[in-house]
Amino acid sequence: MSDCIFCKIASGEIPSNTVYENESLRVILDISPANPGHCLVLPKSHAENIFEIDENLLKEAFAVAKKIASALKLSGLADGVNILQNNGGVAGQTVNHFHIHVIPRKEGDNVTLKHEGVKLSSEEMTRVGEAVREALN
Ligand code: AMP
Ligand code: ZN
Repeated sequence: MSDCIFCKIASGEIPSNTVYENESLRVILDISPANPGHCLVLPKSHAENIFEIDENLLKEAFAVAKKIASALKLSGLADGVNILQNNGGVAGQTVNHFHIHVIPRKEGDNVTLKHEGVKLSSEEMTRVGEAVREALN
């Protein structure tokens, strides 16, 4: 997409700190990292989000995220990682080109990704389960 910054970065039109690249994906350092080594896995073809992306490309992107997670651990930048993937403004997506965050974690770092659990009655849980199962049919 011509006005998409991640298309331009993924294609190499805009320079980036690239740590890995193959035919279909580029992995860059996030410009505003949660921790040193915070990486973004960018497909080279444009898809806005998980709802739109081709399933084989999605699998490839997650396989590369695993490779990056292992490299972050091996490099000593991470003792653990969070994999984060936002879809839609309501979910915190700010760049509308599918990407996977690989966030290195260290004991005592200041990264917070926790949520408060919402309380649902057992009836509500039953209804929610039914709604999802029905949508999957
Ligand atoms: P999200 O909120 O999931 O859409 O994440 C977008 C991420 O892209 C943020 O963590 C930004 O710091 C990062 N970002 C935005 N522009 C750039 C850029 N030009 N180079 C590298 N990372 C970027
Ligand atoms: Zn794009």
